[in-house]
Amino acid sequence: MIYDLIIIGLGPAGLTASIYASRYELKHALIGSLKGGTASESHLVENYPGFESISGQELMENFFNQAKKYRPEFLYTKADQISKNKNVFEIRTNEGKIIKTKSIILALGVQHRALCIPGEKKFLGRGVSYCPTCDGPLFKNKIIAVAGGGDSALTSALYLSKIAKKIYLIYRKEVFRAQALWQTKLEEEKKIKKILNNQIKEIKGVGVVNEIILNKPYQNKKSLKINGLFIEIGVIPSKEFNLTPPLKLKKDSAGYIIVNYRQETNISGLFAAGDITSPADKLKQIITASAEGAISAVNAYRFLTKRTTRI
Ligand SMILES: Cc1cc2nc3c(=O)[nH]c(=O)nc-3n(C[C@H](O)[C@H](O)[C@H](O)COP(=O)(O)OP(=O)(O)OC[C@H]3O[C@@H](n4cnc5c(N)ncnc54)[C@H](O)[C@@H]3O)c2cc1C
Repeated sequence: MIYDLIIIGLGPAGLTASIYASRYELKHALIGSLKGGTASESHLVENYPGFESISGQELMENFFNQAKKYRPEFLYTKADQISKNKNVFEIRTNEGKIIKTKSIILALGVQHRALCIPGEKKFLGRGVSYCPTCDGPLFKNKIIAVAGGGDSALTSALYLSKIAKKIYLIYRKEVFRAQALWQTKLEEEKKIKKILNNQIKEIKGVGVVNEIILNKPYQNKKSLKINGLFIEIGVIPSKEFNLTPPLKLKKDSAGYIIVNYRQETNISGLFAAGDITSPADKLKQIITASAEGAISAVNAYRFLTKRTTRI
């Protein structure tokens, strides 16, 4: 069997693409492992129109249920390799299954950037986390640190302040780069101690995290006793699958996929949408990822039906 379209990624871009693809009656399936994508990690979304305040998980559950209503296939796996034989793409999943399709939308999103310091890998899941919404509740009344100074770091620290006893928010620069609104809220939260112009050098512990070593002393101490560390220092594009030559996807210098206004990549029949697309500094939000998902599905339909006129 050959699908019209395979969407890789179950975040806002992929799920919105599916809703549009269903309405154009494209025979399609979605491949992904994390239902709702990174959006489901947001403890509170307050900037998606139509919802004054909703958890990322609930919002993405709504996206998922709306997409599911049209009965596309969901394949809970990872795409490992993509090749093309004449005009048909072949996607190999990490279980070795081959899926054939005439077109693809890559909606892979981004991954968390790591600090790359000693102890980070060793204590991952044992005090080190990249997901406050998932792991925050484990640190009730504990002392934790958050590394980072952007929106994700500040919103994470604010969220964690409702759970933990004390939070150190550690940022390497002198001024946070998060939106002003989050900085104002931060000032009001007394549990959060700001440590600016400083960096974490090493994570230590016995079995689990119990200490971080700083680059410079903070209140005359070069280390802090903590129970957990949340790393929120930005993202890098997901690059979890391989393309078989001669397929070569054009990317920018930061690794984001280059697309045109139709979300077309340089490979005919291969589209990309959401946070994975260039430029690196574009607005990476649910609303923009969803919009790109919709555009990519409409243009996949045009590609499949050879339609050039307005839909
Ligand atoms: C903590 C946090 C809070 C946020 N808060 C907000 C907010 O309040 N408002 C807002 O608008 N935005 C927010 N964002 C940003 C928003 O979540 C993203 O912009 C949005 O999720 C991007 O959607 P996407 O579909 O492009 O990618 P993602 O949501 O990242 O989804 C990508 C999907 O692709 C899957 N995938 C990757 N590689 C493969 C592969 N090889 N095979 C199969 N599947 C694969 C992933 O598992 C995932 O399911 C937040 C993000 C974070 C991390």
